[in-house]
Amino acid sequence: MLMTSGTGPASGWIKPRRRPSTYALKEGEKVILIDAGSPEAVMDVMEVFGKPECALISHAHLDHWSGINVLRWTGLKTYSHESTFSHPYFKEITDMPFELELRAIEYFEPVEVCGFSVVAFPLRHSIPATGFLINEKVAYLLDTKGLPEDSFKFLKDKVEYVIIDAALPDGVEGPHNTFKEAVDLSLDLGAKKAFLVHLLPSLSVEEVLSYAEDKGLDAEVPYDGQTFKL
Ligand SMILES: [Zn+2]
Ligand SMILES: [Zn+2]
Repeated sequence: MLMTSGTGPASGWIKPRRRPSTYALKEGEKVILIDAGSPEAVMDVMEVFGKPECALISHAHLDHWSGINVLRWTGLKTYSHESTFSHPYFKEITDMPFELELRAIEYFEPVEVCGFSVVAFPLRHSIPATGFLINEKVAYLLDTKGLPEDSFKFLKDKVEYVIIDAALPDGVEGPHNTFKEAVDLSLDLGAKKAFLVHLLPSLSVEEVLSYAEDKGLDAEVPYDGQTFKL
């Protein structure tokens, strides 16, 4: 099961309410958090799925990890690439992790994370960012604009579901995909379904979904608090 607990960009949305990036997967009794951008969204994950024992953190931007504060005393095993842990934005955590266990993982080397198989790979963003392929099925692709070639080749035709950065309106340049780039990349990867997330509040969800439909992509722009059977 996937829970989309925080589906917004750094600014969030007021209406409908979308908090910064916070997702979780549950299989049996095992729960992992994928980013933790909002303390409240992390608490909602705990209420619906139970307490996560592990977290994957994509990068050091605050809107992807500040919610981890609510788990600082729980022994949470916190995984990312070394470039996240060594980044100055993450210094508050690396200086004082309290009971968080920080575990650096290498790119393209499978590791077991609380019962899930995880492979990390580089994304393309304004600071170093890491994507994750989980259980050879779900790829977490934010924040990113496109993908480095080795990551694209690694994922192509291997991934069923993508949770993908679709932050920007068409024609806007920045370190994020436009919604059209997110749809096109999902199709190029051969994904069976795409969760388009991190949309700026100025985007029209209807426009995003109608572009995906025209292109023949099964896509959702999920709300906070939704759960999906994968
Ligand atoms: Zn972000
Ligand atoms: Zn970012």
